[in-house]
Amino acid sequence: MTEPAESSEMLDANRAYAESFTQGALPAEPARRIAILTCMDARMNVEKILGLRIGDAHILRNAGGRASDDAIRSLTVSSLLLGTRRFMVIHHTRCGMASHTNDDIRSVVRDQIGGDASGVDFLPFTDLDESVREDVRRLRESPLIPREVSVEGYVYDVQSGRLTQVQGA
Ligand code: ZN
Repeated sequence: MTEPAESSEMLDANRAYAESFTQGALPAEPARRIAILTCMDARMNVEKILGLRIGDAHILRNAGGRASDDAIRSLTVSSLLLGTRRFMVIHHTRCGMASHTNDDIRSVVRDQIGGDASGVDFLPFTDLDESVREDVRRLRESPLIPREVSVEGYVYDVQSGRLTQVQGA
């Protein structure tokens, strides 16, 4: 692995961005009334994958793109306070969360930094389509999400760039 990116490089990039920035008047409500829940994987450029622009959508990312309690916290705010009406759950091929178990990750935490993660569920999974169905179901059944929100599940292929809807999700 290479060294972490220099923050000075990113601050330079930000200065250039701000110099030509013209979209400071957008409303907070997503224009396309959609929220995307997906993985933090660096190979996924979510806006480009879905043809979204600034102001269009909420994009929530975590390890695996799982419908964790914290994801639901954000999606409650997204739908009830900011007007989103469609959620897309997107997991992806070659996801790190499909190649580790809770025990693996807890051991890494203990061995590398001495921390106790025994009470943490890292939400790993073994079956990609099934993890999507599980998260779609969890959102549909959540008492914190309005019933009129539609929830769809997809898998993104990191090699082809293609998105496929998960059957039964
Ligand atoms: Zn992932």
